[in-house]
Amino acid sequence: MKVSLYDEGTCPALRVGELAEGLARLTGARVETRGEFVRDWAATVGRTHGSAPTDDRGSCRGRPMCPPLTTTEGLARALARARVVDPLSRLQPEREPTAVEVAAEQRALETAGKASVGLLYDGAVVQWLMAEWMECGSEAKAGSVAAEAAPTVECHVIVTARLLGTYMAEDRRWHAHTVLLGEPAILSTSGLVQAPARPKEYYQGQMLATNRLIPREVVEAELQRRLADRMLLPDDPRITAAALGCALQAVSFQATGEAFCEEPVCRLYNARRQEELLRSQCSEEARLCPRHEALFRSLRETACE
Ligand SMILES: [Zn+2]
Repeated sequence: MKVSLYDEGTCPALRVGELAEGLARLTGARVETRGEFVRDWAATVGRTHGSAPTDDRGSCRGRPMCPPLTTTEGLARALARARVVDPLSRLQPEREPTAVEVAAEQRALETAGKASVGLLYDGAVVQWLMAEWMECGSEAKAGSVAAEAAPTVECHVIVTARLLGTYMAEDRRWHAHTVLLGEPAILSTSGLVQAPARPKEYYQGQMLATNRLIPREVVEAELQRRLADRMLLPDDPRITAAALGCALQAVSFQATGEAFCEEPVCRLYNARRQEELLRSQCSEEARLCPRHEALFRSLRETACE
């Protein structure tokens, strides 16, 4: 198995080399770190940065619904459209993004280390856009270079600061994710910090800030200081360990179709709460359960053959 690991360099606390090493050691995969995903694949297909020509409707293999994905401007426009602007509604309003929104997305795509933060995106749409960006590139690549002699299972894992969500019918609201499984898998560093529920004391403490007697940032800093051992913080060095667990979930899904584990201390546990995330990824108890240890052992043995 080969894992291509893409990092946009927007999370200073994430040690990408260590993440790649851990992934290679546990899965036996050949792990290649490839920098920022969009730029990497733009280079592959020779797509230009900058504005789309006026006649560019970007038909990608003739699909009528495909946005113009031949330039980063087209991708930026599609990403701006994927923003969740009405958090209470599953169906987002049909709207044309403003020039300012598109320009901001394009800057984030074209500037190394520039994150798109503070916004929630429809995760399924973003994943589809990334798959299209890559698949059009794969076709161009296949047309220009000879295919590899032995087909290798390849897993693409994108690390991003974008917050990616799904609308849940049960409670009629959008939920952010730590990782979106599939091809490509997308691991969100903002999601690791924000998606799993924080301790209830955090939300109780936040209520103090709503009466405006204490500035919100003062309350936030105090809560983060007091609850640091029970939740991941932005720029938390534990993010690397938590990201490794999510990357293992992505590889497991690619290899077996099954990503998550019921065992609360297994690295494949789908944590809904920050305390569960820290226990399953960053504590002394964190490990692979016997079943998943066996799965990754068999992947390593296959890799050696
Ligand atoms: Zn397990």
